[in-house]
Amino acid sequence: MKRHDPGTFVTCVYNPDRAVCRPPADTSEQPELGDCRPLACRNTALTPDNRDAHARHVADLDSALAQGDRLAPYIRHRLQQQRQDTSDFLTRHAPEPA
Ligand code: SF4
Repeated sequence: MKRHDPGTFVTCVYNPDRAVCRPPADTSEQPELGDCRPLACRNTALTPDNRDAHARHVADLDSALAQGDRLAPYIRHRLQQQRQDTSDFLTRHAPEPA
């Protein structure tokens, strides 16, 4: 298992057997960061800064959705889904109680 530098939204703890950014037969020793799907990947870890970035993103989505009646239904639905997915992700990765 190889640890990579933290990104803004996620820290990748790369394990090729669990990476969703590469096809299953590809056992590369490096993640494909351009295809990162952190909400779906089991290689993710969250630093406090990562959690803060997600929380800011949720707040931005809340701001956009506060004016949801001005949005096209498809866009509103996508933002609502993104907010729910991000919120669920943060819940799944809640820090262990000390
Ligand atoms: S999808 Fe993202 S978190 Fe998962 S292994 Fe690839 S780069 Fe790392």
